[in-house]
Amino acid sequence: MASQPAVEVDGLRKVYGTTVAVDDISLTVYEGEIFGILGPNGAGKSTTVESIAGLRTIDSGTISVHGIDPVNQREEITEVLGVQLQEAKLQPKITVQEALELWSAFYPDPEPWAPLAERLGLGDHLRQRFEDLSGGQQQRLSIALALIGRPRVVVLDELTTGLDPRARREVWELVRDVRDRGVTVLLVTHSMEEAQTLCDRIAIVDAGRVRALDTPAGLIGSASAATITTFETPVAIDLASLRELEGVTAARSENGTVTVEGAEGVALAVIEELRTQGVAPLRLRVAAGSLDAAYLDLTENDTDPDIRQEALR
Ligand code: ADP
Repeated sequence: MASQPAVEVDGLRKVYGTTVAVDDISLTVYEGEIFGILGPNGAGKSTTVESIAGLRTIDSGTISVHGIDPVNQREEITEVLGVQLQEAKLQPKITVQEALELWSAFYPDPEPWAPLAERLGLGDHLRQRFEDLSGGQQQRLSIALALIGRPRVVVLDELTTGLDPRARREVWELVRDVRDRGVTVLLVTHSMEEAQTLCDRIAIVDAGRVRALDTPAGLIGSASAATITTFETPVAIDLASLRELEGVTAARSENGTVTVEGAEGVALAVIEELRTQGVAPLRLRVAAGSLDAAYLDLTENDTDPDIRQEALR
């Protein structure tokens, strides 16, 4: 089933004075995806999604959301795109029902709010004030408000920051449910776990640029520690020769446990080398690397202040 592009960003750039918020970002999000934008603070994630939502002016580049240019067609964009923003705080005294009714009034054909509230687990909280809701309930309400205009694309920014593990999982389930109902989800996050569990594809953004764009498995597979091989050995082994094996990026020994990191497939070469050395490894384990490792590889320069200066040239 070939998917159509839902969001296309090409050469996006946004500068505030001397700060390059977004240097040069291009990406395509396909219909029906949960697409993650992952990166450190200040990477330009919010600026990117707020530009996609038509909430910022841009310096250069083009954006299309189902054929609509959010920068020049601000009215039309609200008909296809719903947005839950990081900073979106409601009036503390507003009740769940009042917020839902107020938001409904913004759209020509809103989704009936009562069933929507029910679906998002807010049915029993309609008279509760925003300030009295738990963090998870507040986030569920903000998702409801983003969905009320029947959008084809929904932008969710730092959705689960500050939620306890149970509430996070509930919100993740909801996001999957939203996608299963045919809405494309664009998710901004700095949580590795969230990106890995929830997203079909992830763009790792740093210093205003896309450093990598792939499925979580693809990103992990391309990391310097795509595979981690560990074993115990009662005898000393020659670590240097392990490090020389093709694809191996690191080998270390700690308290009798040896860890070898490297590209997909290096475990076999490690075992061969051990055989050559006459070492029988104990408790041998081979595990896939983590998204953290891929992320660290790709964002290791993010503390380098020269990057932004260079980007300003
Ligand atoms: P992220 O969402 O990845 O944390 P942002 O898009 O919020 O990153 O910010 C990217 C950079 O642009 C940061 O250095 C931030 O300080 C700067 N920035 C964002 N919005 C503004 C603004 N309205 N005025 C000035 N600088 C901004």
